[in-house]
Amino acid sequence: PDFHALGLSAPLAQGATAAGFGTPTPVQAAAIPAVLRGADLLASAQTGSGKTAAFALPLLQRLIDDPSQRQSNHARALVLVPTRELAVQVGGVVREVARHLTPRLRVVEAYGGVSINPQMQALRGGTDVLVATPGRLLDLADHNAVKLDAVQTLVLDEADRLLDLGFADELARVLALLPARRQNLFFSATFPPAVEALAASLLHDPVRVSV
Ligand code: AMP
Repeated sequence: PDFHALGLSAPLAQGATAAGFGTPTPVQAAAIPAVLRGADLLASAQTGSGKTAAFALPLLQRLIDDPSQRQSNHARALVLVPTRELAVQVGGVVREVARHLTPRLRVVEAYGGVSINPQMQALRGGTDVLVATPGRLLDLADHNAVKLDAVQTLVLDEADRLLDLGFADELARVLALLPARRQNLFFSATFPPAVEALAASLLHDPVRVSV
């Protein structure tokens, strides 16, 4: 099937083509319909599988379709990533796909190792998609630069690396700031016990995708 046949609207399917995505990869074919209908997702997917587009495309579709607007200092969707490099990479993919959509969606990347001020500025008007590393996200939340109580969808990207890099405590603090009712999309390359436990605590009746 093509992206349109998976349930994405024409603008999103065109965005996928414009971003250089050809035929949907297996993880995209399995994940996109599930995410579009609002299910939680547990995906076993490696880098290179096309996992970024597997969550980015349906996430953007749901944001476009949802009538609620972004509010000052609030994020509507949160993608947690383990590293600055991944934040830049994922933010770039999301922005590229979102480029031709109406209404215009705002995408903000937040990661440590750089000045916090521009990130605080970028978040002031609210953001549709916030791609963040856990430590910097908590700094921003502590400064009241971002509020997470309106997050409708949480994505954990490379959950195994989030735990490997020692982000378990930060993760728990972030989760406590999110509303209880939300969609959760969980991506990991490996599933050691700590990752399984995190998935079990986070996900409600998830659709399982293994590629
Ligand atoms: P990821 O697994 O998300 O890191 O993606 C790996 C690479 O595959 C990236 O360079 C994407 O641009 C590319 N890619 C993702 N989905 C597709 C697709 N459906 N067709 C062709 N390339 C893709």
